[in-house]
Amino acid sequence: MKDNIDAHTLLIGLLAYPIRHSLAPTIQNRLYAKLNIPYVYLAFEVKADALPAAIQGIRALGMRGAAVSMPNKQLVCQYLDVLTPAVELSGACNTIANDGGILTGYNTDGSGYMQSLKAAGIDVIGKKMTLIGAGGAASAIAAQAALDGVKEIALFNPNDDFYPKAESLAKRINQNTNCNINVFDLADNKALRAHIADSYLLAHATGIGMKPDEKQSVITDASLFHPDLIVTDCIYVPNKTTLLALAESQGCYIINGISMMLWQGAQQIKIWTGQDIPITYLQQDLNSDH
Ligand code: NAD
Repeated sequence: MKDNIDAHTLLIGLLAYPIRHSLAPTIQNRLYAKLNIPYVYLAFEVKADALPAAIQGIRALGMRGAAVSMPNKQLVCQYLDVLTPAVELSGACNTIANDGGILTGYNTDGSGYMQSLKAAGIDVIGKKMTLIGAGGAASAIAAQAALDGVKEIALFNPNDDFYPKAESLAKRINQNTNCNINVFDLADNKALRAHIADSYLLAHATGIGMKPDEKQSVITDASLFHPDLIVTDCIYVPNKTTLLALAESQGCYIINGISMMLWQGAQQIKIWTGQDIPITYLQQDLNSDH
C-alpha cells in the first residue's frame, strides 16, 4: 500500500469515537491498493466536540471525503453544504464527499440495505414492511425504503428515548413521501401480530441479538411468523441471530446483516472514487485474515 502513496494521493477519513477496533481502514486500503486507486483511508478519533474542526479540516486539506460513525452521524448534518433526501429524512449521515469544497452528506446504510434486498431478488417496492427499531440503522432503512417506493411501514420500538425520534421520523416520511408509516410500541403484541401478518417483509434493526444480548430476540413467539414472510436482520455477528433462527424454523426466508454491510461499503467507494467495486472484492477482504 505504501508504494501507492505519492504527492497526488487523496485522503478519506473515518470520523468516529471509539474507532480503533474498526476493520474499515484495513479493508478499504487493501481495496485501493488492489485496484490501483490513489486513495488512503485513515481512522481519526473524533468526538462530538471536535467535529466542527474536523469538518473544516476536510475542506482545508482538500480531503476527498469521510465516513462518519458513532457519535457523529446526526450531529454532522448541520456542518455540511448539501444533504441527500435520505439524509434529510433520516436525520443521519454516514458518508461525506468533498467536491471542490462543497461537502455533500449521504447515508449508505439505508441504500445498502435496499440494495441487499435487490441482490437477493427481493422486491419490496409497493408492498408493506414491518420494521423493528428507531435508531441509526432503522431510521436510514425507513427513509430509503420510503423514498424507493415501499407502500407502508409499521414501525415498532420500545417506549424508550428513541420512541419520540421514531414519531418525528414518521412525521417527516409521511409529509415528504408517498409511504404511509405508523409507529407502535413494541410491547403491543396484538398490533405486532396484526402488522406482521400482512407484511411482505420484517426488518429487525436493533442491537438485541448481538453481544452481550446474543441469546435474546425482540420476538420470542414463533406464531408471529408466517412462511411467506421475508425476515432480515441488521446484525451480522452472530451470523444467524436467535430471531433469524426462529423465523427460519417457521419457514421464512432469512437474510443477515452482512450483505447490507458490504453493499453500504461498495456504495461509499462509488461515491468517493466513481468506481463500481464488485461486491465479491469486499467479501474476500471480509473473509481474509486481518
Ligand atoms: P442505535 O443505538 O442507534 O439504536 C438502537 C435501537 O435499539 C433503538 O431503536 C432502541 O430503542 C432499540 N433498543 C434498545 N434496547 C432495546 C431492547 N431491549 N429491546 C428492543 N429494542 C431495543 O443502534 P444502530 O446504530 O441503529 O444499530 C442497530 C443494530 O444494527 C446494531 O446491531 C448494529 O450493529 C447494526 N447495524 C448494522 C449495519 C450493517 O451494515 N449491517 C449498519 C448499521 C447498524
